[in-house]
Amino acid sequence: MSDNKALAQKILQLKKKKNAAIVAHNYQIPEIQDLADFVGDSLELSKTSMTLEADLIVFCGVRFMAETAKILSPDKKVLLPVREAGCPLADTITTAELLSLKKQYPDAWVVSYVNTPASIKALTDVCCTSSNAIAVVKNVPSKEIIFVPDKNLGWWVQKNVPEKRVIIWQGSCFVHEQFNVKELAEAKKKHPDAEVLVHPECKREVIEAADQALSTAGMLKYVKQALGKEFIIGTEEGILHKLKKENPGKEFYSLGMAKTCINMKKTTLNALYDSLRLDQFEITLERDIIEKAKVSLERMVQYL
Ligand code: SF4
Repeated sequence: MSDNKALAQKILQLKKKKNAAIVAHNYQIPEIQDLADFVGDSLELSKTSMTLEADLIVFCGVRFMAETAKILSPDKKVLLPVREAGCPLADTITTAELLSLKKQYPDAWVVSYVNTPASIKALTDVCCTSSNAIAVVKNVPSKEIIFVPDKNLGWWVQKNVPEKRVIIWQGSCFVHEQFNVKELAEAKKKHPDAEVLVHPECKREVIEAADQALSTAGMLKYVKQALGKEFIIGTEEGILHKLKKENPGKEFYSLGMAKTCINMKKTTLNALYDSLRLDQFEITLERDIIEKAKVSLERMVQYL
């Protein structure tokens, strides 16, 4: 038996013994995705975590995702296997910066992408995901919106909701910013029958040149019902594993060189094993932050 297989078995035994559940984001390494009880986008996983009977949730992803699971399931123990697995995009805005924006635009509603720390969610009126950001901004009862933290998603929202003024924080994801129109044109030339699907965290010119701008969950759904057989994918390369697994008759190509989020790849089988074995690293949040952040997440459903 290979070392990885033996380790995977030890993880599964330990998981059973501790009545734990393993949830993994679509960008995790294939070995982690294959071991997980659920694989999905950050919000799907947090919602799933709420319904699990498990005493312990091991969240294979980055910190803001594990925090979101904790906000929605405050009585469960949530572990993030790698303490340093953060999201640079989520960390582009501080609470002081958001408070200052709120002061500057007192009538604006704050709409935050889920890729934010719990402390930012606690200062937010409504959270959104990349798949529902347009609907949320359209439906909130304010003509003026402070949108944080991703500037590309903010631009996409403003383009689709022209009737509102969207004040956009200038954060971005270093992974999605690497996609470019030159690579897109080359990929199209190489695979002329393929549809181009990109994430709305990509730069605006990439979004405009693509066939569809979709969240990771949106891509998985779209591909399943699409008549086409070939797709060029513009998001973190980890999604290709699930796309291929769920659609054996279809072909998927990375848009240009595969783009990797180093933070997402920090969770190895060894890190997951240690996390389960040593109960590390537990997500703890102040009760006040949990309560306020929970309101902003729950409101999201209200404005769809
Ligand atoms: S891919 Fe981008 S947004 Fe997602 S975790 Fe990595 S840095 Fe953050």
